[in-house]
Amino acid sequence: MRNTRDTQLLFDLSKPGRRAGRLPACDVPAKPLAELLPSSAVAAAPPALPEVTEPQIIRHFVNLSTQNMSVDTHFYPLGSCTMKYNPKRNERAAAMPAFAELHPLSPDDAVQGMLHVLHEMQQYLSEISGLPACSLQPAAGAHGEYAALLVAAAYFRDRGEGAQRTRVLVPDNAHGTNPASAVMAGFDTVAVKTLPNGGCDMEDFRAKLDDRCAVLMITNPNTVGIFEPNMRTIADEVHAAGGLVYLDGANMNAILGITRPGDFGADMQHYNPHKTFSGPHGGGGPGAGPICVTEALAPYLPSPIVRQRTVNRDADSGASGTPGDYYLDFNRPKSIGRVRSFFGNVGVLLRAYCYIRTHGPDGLKRVSENAVLNANYLLARVKHILPVPQGDRCMHEFVASGSKLKKDKGVAAMDIAKRLLDYGYHAPTVYFPLTVPEAIMVEPTETESKETLDAFAEALFRITEEAPDLLHEAPHSTAISRPDEVQAARSPCLCAPWTEQ
Ligand SMILES: *Cc1c(COP(=O)(O)O)cnc(C)c1O
Repeated sequence: MRNTRDTQLLFDLSKPGRRAGRLPACDVPAKPLAELLPSSAVAAAPPALPEVTEPQIIRHFVNLSTQNMSVDTHFYPLGSCTMKYNPKRNERAAAMPAFAELHPLSPDDAVQGMLHVLHEMQQYLSEISGLPACSLQPAAGAHGEYAALLVAAAYFRDRGEGAQRTRVLVPDNAHGTNPASAVMAGFDTVAVKTLPNGGCDMEDFRAKLDDRCAVLMITNPNTVGIFEPNMRTIADEVHAAGGLVYLDGANMNAILGITRPGDFGADMQHYNPHKTFSGPHGGGGPGAGPICVTEALAPYLPSPIVRQRTVNRDADSGASGTPGDYYLDFNRPKSIGRVRSFFGNVGVLLRAYCYIRTHGPDGLKRVSENAVLNANYLLARVKHILPVPQGDRCMHEFVASGSKLKKDKGVAAMDIAKRLLDYGYHAPTVYFPLTVPEAIMVEPTETESKETLDAFAEALFRITEEAPDLLHEAPHSTAISRPDEVQAARSPCLCAPWTEQ
Protein backbone atom coordinates (compact mmCIF):
# COMPACT_ATOMS: atom_id res chain seq x y z
CA MET A 1 0.00 0.00 0.00
CA ARG A 2 1.46 3.32 -1.06
CA ASN A 3 -0.54 6.34 -0.22
CA THR A 4 1.01 9.78 -0.17
CA ARG A 5 -1.57 10.94 2.34
CA ASP A 6 -0.05 8.46 4.79
CA THR A 7 3.19 10.38 4.74
CA GLN A 8 1.61 13.82 5.22
CA LEU A 9 2.28 15.45 8.54
CA LEU A 10 -0.58 16.35 10.83
CA PHE A 11 0.56 19.93 10.22
CA ASP A 12 -0.30 19.51 6.52
CA LEU A 13 -3.85 18.52 7.48
CA SER A 14 -4.34 21.38 9.93
CA LYS A 15 -7.27 23.82 9.40
CA PRO A 16 -7.82 26.68 11.84
CA GLY A 17 -10.58 25.94 14.33
CA ARG A 18 -10.66 22.13 13.85
CA ARG A 19 -10.69 20.27 17.15
CA ALA A 20 -10.53 16.66 18.30
CA GLY A 21 -12.39 17.56 21.47
CA ARG A 22 -14.18 20.59 22.82
CA LEU A 23 -14.30 21.83 26.37
CA PRO A 24 -17.64 23.02 27.76
CA ALA A 25 -18.18 26.79 27.60
CA CYS A 26 -16.61 28.60 30.51
CA ASP A 27 -19.26 29.29 33.16
CA VAL A 28 -17.14 31.40 35.49
CA PRO A 29 -15.67 34.86 34.84
CA ALA A 30 -12.54 34.41 32.70
CA LYS A 31 -9.25 35.67 34.11
CA PRO A 32 -6.13 36.46 32.10
CA LEU A 33 -3.42 33.84 32.66
CA ALA A 34 -1.00 36.58 33.69
CA GLU A 35 -3.10 37.16 36.81
CA LEU A 36 -2.90 33.48 37.78
CA LEU A 37 0.70 32.61 36.95
CA PRO A 38 4.04 34.41 37.16
CA SER A 39 4.85 36.05 33.83
CA SER A 40 7.88 33.79 33.37
CA ALA A 41 5.51 30.82 33.21
CA VAL A 42 3.23 32.30 30.53
CA ALA A 43 4.16 31.94 26.84
CA ALA A 44 3.67 34.91 24.53
CA ALA A 45 1.48 32.87 22.18
CA PRO A 46 -0.18 29.46 22.33
CA PRO A 47 1.92 26.63 20.80
CA ALA A 48 1.40 26.16 17.04
CA LEU A 49 -0.18 22.70 17.30
CA PRO A 50 -1.97 21.12 14.33
CA GLU A 51 -5.72 21.67 14.38
CA VAL A 52 -7.35 18.41 13.33
CA THR A 53 -10.29 16.16 14.16
CA GLU A 54 -10.10 12.94 16.17
CA PRO A 55 -10.54 10.64 13.11
CA GLN A 56 -7.72 12.50 11.36
CA ILE A 57 -5.41 11.88 14.31
CA ILE A 58 -6.37 8.22 14.58
CA ARG A 59 -5.96 7.56 10.83
CA HIS A 60 -2.68 9.42 10.77
CA PHE A 61 -1.09 7.36 13.52
CA VAL A 62 -2.66 4.03 12.55
CA ASN A 63 -1.48 4.50 8.95
CA LEU A 64 1.98 5.45 10.14
CA SER A 65 2.09 2.32 12.32
CA THR A 66 1.34 0.11 9.30
CA GLN A 67 4.42 1.44 7.50
CA ASN A 68 6.64 0.05 10.22
CA MET A 69 7.99 -3.45 10.52
CA SER A 70 7.59 -4.89 13.97
CA VAL A 71 7.91 -8.19 15.77
CA ASP A 72 4.10 -8.37 15.79
CA THR A 73 3.88 -8.04 12.01
CA HIS A 74 7.07 -9.49 10.50
CA PHE A 75 10.02 -11.82 11.04
CA TYR A 76 12.74 -9.58 12.46
CA PRO A 77 16.16 -11.33 12.37
CA LEU A 78 18.11 -8.23 13.44
CA GLY A 79 21.36 -9.70 14.77
CA SER A 80 22.58 -8.63 18.21
CA CYS A 81 19.18 -7.13 19.05
CA THR A 82 17.28 -10.33 19.97
CA MET A 83 13.96 -9.25 18.47
CA LYS A 84 11.93 -12.09 19.93
CA TYR A 85 8.17 -12.05 20.28
CA ASN A 86 6.98 -9.78 23.11
CA PRO A 87 4.34 -11.77 25.04
CA LYS A 88 1.24 -9.68 25.70
CA ARG A 89 0.87 -11.06 29.22
CA ASN A 90 4.02 -9.12 30.15
CA GLU A 91 2.26 -5.93 29.07
CA ARG A 92 -0.79 -6.74 31.15
CA ALA A 93 1.35 -7.45 34.22
CA ALA A 94 3.31 -4.21 33.87
CA ALA A 95 0.12 -2.21 33.33
CA MET A 96 -1.61 -3.47 36.48
CA PRO A 97 -2.72 -0.35 38.37
CA ALA A 98 -1.06 -1.69 41.54
CA PHE A 99 2.26 -1.21 39.72
CA ALA A 100 1.58 1.40 37.08
CA GLU A 101 -0.08 3.94 39.37
CA LEU A 102 2.47 3.93 42.18
CA HIS A 103 4.09 7.22 43.00
CA PRO A 104 7.87 6.89 42.87
CA LEU A 105 8.23 8.89 46.08
CA SER A 106 5.91 6.62 48.10
CA PRO A 107 7.33 5.54 51.47
CA ASP A 108 8.65 1.96 51.55
CA ASP A 109 5.81 0.67 53.74
CA ALA A 110 3.24 1.81 51.14
CA VAL A 111 4.93 -0.08 48.26
CA GLN A 112 5.80 -3.44 49.80
CA GLY A 113 4.38 -5.42 46.86
CA MET A 114 6.47 -3.49 44.34
CA LEU A 115 9.61 -3.80 46.46
CA HIS A 116 8.97 -7.51 46.93
CA VAL A 117 8.88 -8.00 43.15
CA LEU A 118 12.01 -5.90 42.60
CA HIS A 119 13.80 -7.81 45.37
CA GLU A 120 12.92 -11.11 43.70
CA MET A 121 14.05 -9.68 40.38
CA GLN A 122 17.48 -8.90 41.89
CA GLN A 123 17.66 -12.48 43.13
CA TYR A 124 16.61 -14.01 39.78
CA LEU A 125 19.17 -11.97 37.86
CA SER A 126 21.87 -12.94 40.35
CA GLU A 127 20.88 -16.59 40.12
CA ILE A 128 20.95 -16.57 36.30
CA SER A 129 24.31 -14.77 36.15
CA GLY A 130 26.04 -16.54 39.05
CA LEU A 131 26.94 -13.11 40.43
CA PRO A 132 25.48 -12.50 43.90
CA ALA A 133 24.82 -8.73 43.98
CA CYS A 134 22.48 -6.80 41.69
CA SER A 135 21.46 -3.23 40.90
CA LEU A 136 18.34 -2.66 38.83
CA GLN A 137 19.04 1.02 38.21
CA PRO A 138 20.78 1.39 34.84
CA ALA A 139 18.36 2.35 32.08
CA ALA A 140 19.87 0.45 29.11
CA GLY A 141 22.59 -2.05 28.33
CA ALA A 142 25.06 0.71 27.50
CA HIS A 143 24.14 2.48 30.74
CA GLY A 144 24.80 -0.78 32.62
CA GLU A 145 28.26 -0.97 31.04
CA TYR A 146 28.97 2.57 32.14
CA ALA A 147 27.65 2.02 35.68
CA ALA A 148 29.66 -1.20 36.09
CA LEU A 149 32.84 0.52 34.89
CA LEU A 150 32.26 3.26 37.48
CA VAL A 151 31.90 0.45 40.04
CA ALA A 152 35.22 -1.00 38.86
CA ALA A 153 36.89 2.43 39.03
CA ALA A 154 35.62 2.94 42.61
CA TYR A 155 36.87 -0.54 43.56
CA PHE A 156 40.36 0.15 42.23
CA ARG A 157 40.48 3.62 43.87
CA ASP A 158 39.58 1.98 47.15
CA ARG A 159 42.48 -0.45 46.75
CA GLY A 160 44.88 2.36 45.93
CA GLU A 161 45.19 1.20 42.31
CA GLY A 162 43.12 3.97 40.75
CA ALA A 163 46.06 5.80 39.18
CA GLN A 164 47.67 2.60 37.90
CA ARG A 165 44.72 0.79 36.30
CA THR A 166 43.78 3.06 33.45
CA ARG A 167 43.06 0.60 30.67
CA VAL A 168 40.03 -1.28 29.46
CA LEU A 169 40.70 -4.10 26.97
CA VAL A 170 37.99 -4.61 24.36
CA PRO A 171 37.98 -7.18 21.50
CA ASP A 172 37.83 -5.51 18.09
CA ASN A 173 34.47 -7.09 17.23
CA ALA A 174 32.74 -5.68 20.33
CA HIS A 175 29.60 -3.58 20.21
CA GLY A 176 30.47 0.12 19.87
CA THR A 177 28.96 0.84 23.27
CA ASN A 178 31.83 -1.06 24.99
CA PRO A 179 34.67 1.30 24.07
CA ALA A 180 32.31 4.29 24.37
CA SER A 181 31.35 3.33 27.94
CA ALA A 182 35.01 2.79 28.85
CA VAL A 183 35.97 6.25 27.61
CA MET A 184 33.01 7.88 29.37
CA ALA A 185 34.04 6.16 32.61
CA GLY A 186 37.50 7.71 32.26
CA PHE A 187 39.51 4.73 30.94
CA ASP A 188 41.71 4.35 27.87
CA THR A 189 40.54 1.59 25.58
CA VAL A 190 42.88 -0.98 24.06
CA ALA A 191 41.53 -3.08 21.17
CA VAL A 192 42.29 -6.82 21.23
CA LYS A 193 42.39 -8.62 17.87
CA THR A 194 39.95 -11.31 16.88
CA LEU A 195 41.04 -14.41 14.96
CA PRO A 196 39.37 -15.42 11.67
CA ASN A 197 37.50 -18.16 13.58
CA GLY A 198 35.83 -15.47 15.70
CA GLY A 199 37.72 -16.21 18.92
CA CYS A 200 40.05 -13.90 20.81
CA ASP A 201 43.64 -13.68 19.48
CA MET A 202 45.39 -14.96 22.62
CA GLU A 203 48.79 -13.70 21.55
CA ASP A 204 47.50 -10.18 21.05
CA PHE A 205 45.49 -10.40 24.29
CA ARG A 206 48.60 -11.44 26.27
CA ALA A 207 50.67 -8.69 24.65
CA LYS A 208 48.16 -6.09 25.82
CA LEU A 209 47.44 -7.46 29.31
CA ASP A 210 49.53 -6.00 32.12
CA ASP A 211 49.07 -4.33 35.50
CA ARG A 212 47.56 -1.26 33.82
CA CYS A 213 44.50 -3.32 32.91
CA ALA A 214 41.45 -2.44 34.99
CA VAL A 215 38.82 -4.37 33.07
CA LEU A 216 38.52 -6.71 30.11
CA MET A 217 35.09 -6.25 28.52
CA ILE A 218 33.99 -9.31 26.64
CA THR A 219 30.79 -10.33 24.90
CA ASN A 220 30.23 -14.08 25.21
CA PRO A 221 28.86 -15.58 23.06
CA ASN A 222 30.36 -12.81 20.96
CA THR A 223 28.93 -10.78 18.12
CA VAL A 224 29.71 -13.43 15.50
CA GLY A 225 27.77 -15.98 17.58
CA ILE A 226 30.82 -17.88 18.83
CA PHE A 227 31.26 -18.96 22.45
CA GLU A 228 34.81 -17.82 23.28
CA PRO A 229 36.86 -21.06 23.27
CA ASN A 230 39.43 -19.67 25.75
CA MET A 231 36.98 -17.93 28.08
CA ARG A 232 38.22 -19.54 31.28
CA THR A 233 41.91 -18.99 30.43
CA ILE A 234 41.23 -15.37 29.49
CA ALA A 235 39.39 -14.74 32.78
CA ASP A 236 42.12 -16.46 34.83
CA GLU A 237 44.85 -14.41 33.17
CA VAL A 238 42.99 -11.12 33.65
CA HIS A 239 42.51 -12.00 37.32
CA ALA A 240 46.15 -12.99 37.68
CA ALA A 241 47.09 -9.56 36.31
CA GLY A 242 44.85 -7.97 38.96
CA GLY A 243 42.09 -6.93 36.53
CA LEU A 244 38.35 -7.56 36.41
CA VAL A 245 36.28 -9.27 33.73
CA TYR A 246 33.13 -7.55 32.44
CA LEU A 247 30.62 -9.63 30.54
CA ASP A 248 28.50 -7.75 28.02
CA GLY A 249 25.30 -9.72 28.59
CA ALA A 250 23.50 -8.75 25.39
CA ASN A 251 23.79 -12.34 24.18
CA MET A 252 22.46 -14.03 27.31
CA ASN A 253 19.68 -15.44 25.13
CA ALA A 254 22.12 -18.17 24.07
CA ILE A 255 23.15 -19.43 27.52
CA LEU A 256 20.24 -19.05 29.99
CA GLY A 257 20.34 -21.96 32.42
CA ILE A 258 23.20 -23.58 30.47
CA THR A 259 26.18 -21.69 31.83
CA ARG A 260 26.59 -18.65 34.06
CA PRO A 261 28.97 -15.70 33.53
CA GLY A 262 29.96 -15.87 37.21
CA ASP A 263 30.96 -19.50 36.65
CA PHE A 264 33.07 -18.77 33.57
CA GLY A 265 34.99 -15.98 35.24
CA ALA A 266 33.02 -12.72 34.91
CA ASP A 267 33.12 -10.30 37.86
CA MET A 268 30.31 -8.15 36.54
CA GLN A 269 27.76 -8.12 33.76
CA HIS A 270 24.77 -6.23 32.46
CA TYR A 271 21.55 -7.68 31.16
CA ASN A 272 19.43 -6.31 28.35
CA PRO A 273 16.00 -7.39 29.66
CA HIS A 274 14.47 -5.87 26.51
CA LYS A 275 16.48 -8.41 24.48
CA THR A 276 16.87 -11.55 26.58
CA PHE A 277 13.62 -11.27 28.52
CA SER A 278 11.37 -10.23 25.62
CA GLY A 279 10.69 -6.55 26.36
CA PRO A 280 9.59 -4.50 23.35
CA HIS A 281 12.47 -2.32 22.15
CA GLY A 282 13.84 -0.51 19.17
CA GLY A 283 10.82 1.48 18.03
CA GLY A 284 8.66 -0.42 20.52
CA GLY A 285 9.77 0.73 23.91
CA PRO A 286 12.59 1.65 26.26
CA GLY A 287 15.02 -0.82 27.79
CA ALA A 288 16.82 -1.40 31.04
CA GLY A 289 20.35 -2.46 31.97
CA PRO A 290 20.49 -4.10 35.39
CA ILE A 291 23.96 -5.19 36.48
CA CYS A 292 25.18 -8.08 38.62
CA VAL A 293 28.59 -8.21 40.32
CA THR A 294 30.68 -10.32 42.72
CA GLU A 295 30.59 -9.85 46.53
CA ALA A 296 33.85 -7.90 46.33
CA LEU A 297 32.25 -5.29 44.05
CA ALA A 298 28.84 -5.21 45.77
CA PRO A 299 29.59 -2.26 48.10
CA TYR A 300 30.16 0.01 45.07
CA LEU A 301 26.89 -0.74 43.23
CA PRO A 302 24.57 2.21 42.61
CA SER A 303 22.10 3.08 45.37
CA PRO A 304 19.46 2.26 46.37
CA ILE A 305 19.39 -1.56 46.50
CA VAL A 306 16.18 -3.31 47.51
CA ARG A 307 16.69 -5.34 50.67
CA GLN A 308 14.60 -7.48 52.97
CA ARG A 309 14.86 -6.86 56.68
CA THR A 310 16.04 -9.84 58.62
CA VAL A 311 16.07 -8.28 62.11
CA ASN A 312 14.30 -5.35 63.77
CA ARG A 313 17.22 -3.04 63.32
CA ASP A 314 19.06 -3.38 60.03
CA ALA A 315 22.77 -3.36 60.59
CA ASP A 316 23.50 -1.60 57.28
CA SER A 317 20.87 1.09 57.21
CA GLY A 318 20.41 1.66 60.93
CA ALA A 319 16.67 1.94 60.24
CA SER A 320 14.26 -0.10 62.26
CA GLY A 321 11.28 -1.99 60.90
CA THR A 322 9.47 -5.29 60.86
CA PRO A 323 11.48 -8.39 59.90
CA GLY A 324 10.42 -9.58 56.45
CA ASP A 325 9.68 -6.05 55.22
CA TYR A 326 11.36 -4.74 52.10
CA TYR A 327 13.16 -1.41 52.03
CA LEU A 328 15.34 0.73 49.81
CA ASP A 329 18.86 0.75 51.18
CA PHE A 330 20.52 4.12 50.64
CA ASN A 331 23.00 3.74 53.45
CA ARG A 332 25.87 2.36 51.41
CA PRO A 333 28.90 4.62 51.93
CA LYS A 334 31.03 3.10 49.15
CA SER A 335 28.27 3.22 46.52
CA ILE A 336 28.92 5.16 43.31
CA GLY A 337 25.54 6.79 44.06
CA ARG A 338 22.57 7.09 41.82
CA VAL A 339 22.88 6.54 38.10
CA ARG A 340 19.20 7.16 37.43
CA SER A 341 16.21 8.77 39.10
CA PHE A 342 14.18 6.48 41.37
CA PHE A 343 14.67 2.71 40.85
CA GLY A 344 15.29 2.24 37.14
CA ASN A 345 12.90 1.52 34.26
CA VAL A 346 10.48 -0.41 36.44
CA GLY A 347 7.97 -1.11 33.65
CA VAL A 348 10.68 -2.88 31.64
CA LEU A 349 11.82 -4.82 34.72
CA LEU A 350 8.24 -5.94 35.43
CA ARG A 351 7.85 -7.29 31.90
CA ALA A 352 11.11 -9.19 32.33
CA TYR A 353 10.02 -10.45 35.76
CA CYS A 354 6.79 -11.76 34.25
CA TYR A 355 8.76 -13.46 31.46
CA ILE A 356 11.16 -15.13 33.90
CA ARG A 357 8.29 -16.33 36.13
CA THR A 358 6.32 -17.55 33.10
CA HIS A 359 9.19 -19.72 31.86
CA GLY A 360 10.76 -20.83 35.14
CA PRO A 361 14.25 -22.34 35.24
CA ASP A 362 13.55 -25.20 32.81
CA GLY A 363 11.66 -22.93 30.44
CA LEU A 364 14.50 -20.40 30.30
CA LYS A 365 16.93 -23.17 29.46
CA ARG A 366 14.61 -24.29 26.63
CA VAL A 367 14.50 -20.69 25.38
CA SER A 368 18.26 -20.75 24.90
CA GLU A 369 18.35 -24.26 23.46
CA ASN A 370 15.74 -23.32 20.87
CA ALA A 371 17.39 -19.97 20.09
CA VAL A 372 20.64 -21.84 19.35
CA LEU A 373 18.83 -24.57 17.41
CA ASN A 374 16.98 -22.03 15.24
CA ALA A 375 20.17 -20.11 14.49
CA ASN A 376 22.03 -23.28 13.55
CA TYR A 377 19.17 -24.46 11.35
CA LEU A 378 19.11 -21.17 9.48
CA LEU A 379 22.91 -21.13 9.25
CA ALA A 380 22.81 -24.59 7.64
CA ARG A 381 20.17 -23.41 5.19
CA VAL A 382 21.86 -20.19 4.05
CA LYS A 383 25.61 -20.89 4.17
CA HIS A 384 25.55 -22.18 0.55
CA ILE A 385 24.01 -18.90 -0.56
CA LEU A 386 25.93 -16.55 1.70
CA PRO A 387 29.18 -17.93 3.17
CA VAL A 388 29.61 -17.79 6.95
CA PRO A 389 33.35 -17.17 7.56
CA GLN A 390 33.23 -18.32 11.20
CA GLY A 391 32.13 -21.82 10.30
CA ASP A 392 29.31 -24.34 10.41
CA ARG A 393 28.15 -23.92 14.00
CA CYS A 394 26.99 -20.93 15.99
CA MET A 395 25.25 -19.98 19.19
CA HIS A 396 22.18 -17.68 18.97
CA GLU A 397 23.24 -15.84 15.80
CA PHE A 398 25.66 -16.00 12.88
CA VAL A 399 27.33 -13.51 10.60
CA ALA A 400 27.23 -14.25 6.88
CA SER A 401 29.36 -12.36 4.40
CA GLY A 402 28.10 -10.85 1.16
CA SER A 403 31.59 -10.19 -0.17
CA LYS A 404 31.53 -12.92 -2.83
CA LEU A 405 28.21 -11.64 -4.14
CA LYS A 406 29.63 -8.15 -4.19
CA LYS A 407 32.63 -9.29 -6.20
CA ASP A 408 30.63 -11.46 -8.62
CA LYS A 409 27.52 -9.32 -9.16
CA GLY A 410 28.17 -5.94 -7.59
CA VAL A 411 25.40 -6.56 -5.06
CA ALA A 412 26.15 -5.22 -1.56
CA ALA A 413 24.91 -6.39 1.84
CA MET A 414 22.82 -3.20 1.92
CA ASP A 415 21.06 -4.21 -1.34
CA ILE A 416 20.11 -7.59 0.14
CA ALA A 417 18.91 -5.95 3.35
CA LYS A 418 16.75 -3.48 1.41
CA ARG A 419 15.33 -6.14 -0.92
CA LEU A 420 14.29 -8.31 2.03
CA LEU A 421 11.79 -5.59 2.94
CA ASP A 422 9.96 -6.30 -0.33
CA TYR A 423 9.67 -9.94 0.72
CA GLY A 424 8.13 -8.94 4.04
CA TYR A 425 11.14 -9.37 6.30
CA HIS A 426 12.88 -6.91 8.53
CA ALA A 427 16.51 -6.79 7.43
CA PRO A 428 19.28 -8.47 9.42
CA THR A 429 21.95 -6.24 10.96
CA VAL A 430 24.43 -5.28 8.22
CA TYR A 431 28.01 -4.01 8.28
CA PHE A 432 28.48 -5.05 11.91
CA PRO A 433 30.82 -6.38 13.14
CA LEU A 434 33.41 -4.61 10.99
CA THR A 435 35.70 -7.65 11.23
CA VAL A 436 33.49 -9.47 8.66
CA PRO A 437 33.39 -7.81 5.20
CA GLU A 438 29.83 -7.12 3.91
CA ALA A 439 28.52 -8.53 7.20
CA ILE A 440 24.94 -9.80 7.37
CA MET A 441 24.19 -10.68 10.97
CA VAL A 442 21.20 -12.97 11.47
CA GLU A 443 19.52 -13.75 14.79
CA PRO A 444 16.26 -15.64 14.32
CA THR A 445 15.46 -16.10 18.07
CA GLU A 446 13.58 -19.04 19.54
CA THR A 447 10.11 -17.68 18.87
CA GLU A 448 10.13 -18.43 15.12
CA SER A 449 8.77 -21.57 13.49
CA LYS A 450 10.61 -23.83 11.06
CA GLU A 451 8.24 -22.61 8.30
CA THR A 452 9.29 -18.99 8.88
CA LEU A 453 12.97 -19.90 8.82
CA ASP A 454 12.50 -21.95 5.62
CA ALA A 455 10.63 -19.11 3.93
CA PHE A 456 13.31 -16.61 4.92
CA ALA A 457 16.08 -18.85 3.56
CA GLU A 458 14.07 -19.23 0.35
CA ALA A 459 13.68 -15.45 0.03
CA LEU A 460 17.43 -14.96 0.52
CA PHE A 461 18.09 -17.51 -2.20
CA ARG A 462 15.69 -15.83 -4.64
CA ILE A 463 17.23 -12.43 -3.91
CA THR A 464 20.73 -13.63 -4.72
CA GLU A 465 19.38 -14.84 -8.07
CA GLU A 466 17.73 -11.53 -8.93
CA ALA A 467 19.08 -8.91 -11.33
CA PRO A 468 21.53 -6.49 -9.69
CA ASP A 469 19.56 -3.41 -10.83
CA LEU A 470 16.39 -4.65 -9.13
CA LEU A 471 18.39 -4.98 -5.93
CA HIS A 472 20.20 -1.65 -6.21
CA GLU A 473 16.84 0.12 -6.34
CA ALA A 474 15.07 -1.90 -3.64
CA PRO A 475 12.88 -1.63 -1.68
CA HIS A 476 10.09 -1.23 -4.23
CA SER A 477 7.04 -1.76 -2.01
CA THR A 478 7.58 0.55 0.95
CA ALA A 479 6.32 4.10 1.42
CA ILE A 480 9.87 5.43 1.32
CA SER A 481 12.41 3.64 -0.84
CA ARG A 482 16.00 4.64 -0.19
CA PRO A 483 16.61 7.97 1.38
CA ASP A 484 19.89 9.60 0.37
CA GLU A 485 21.84 8.48 3.43
CA VAL A 486 24.73 10.88 2.87
CA GLN A 487 22.34 13.82 2.54
CA ALA A 488 20.34 12.64 5.54
CA ALA A 489 23.50 12.53 7.66
CA ARG A 490 25.15 15.69 6.35
CA SER A 491 22.17 18.02 6.12
CA PRO A 492 19.31 16.51 8.03
CA CYS A 493 16.03 18.42 8.02
CA LEU A 494 14.96 18.03 11.63
CA CYS A 495 13.01 21.26 12.09
CA ALA A 496 9.45 20.98 13.22
CA PRO A 497 7.32 23.17 10.94
CA TRP A 498 6.53 25.63 13.73
CA THR A 499 10.22 26.40 14.30
CA GLU A 500 11.08 26.75 10.61
CA GLN A 501 12.31 30.20 9.73
C1 LIG B 1 22.39 -4.09 22.34
C2 LIG B 1 23.79 -4.27 22.74
C3 LIG B 1 24.40 -3.37 23.64
C4 LIG B 1 23.76 -2.10 24.12
O1 LIG B 1 22.57 -2.30 24.80
P1 LIG B 1 21.43 -1.18 24.84
O2 LIG B 1 20.40 -1.75 25.72
O3 LIG B 1 20.99 -0.99 23.42
O4 LIG B 1 22.07 0.07 25.39
C5 LIG B 1 25.69 -3.65 24.04
N1 LIG B 1 26.36 -4.72 23.58
C6 LIG B 1 25.81 -5.59 22.69
C7 LIG B 1 26.61 -6.78 22.22
C8 LIG B 1 24.51 -5.38 22.24
O5 LIG B 1 23.96 -6.22 21.35
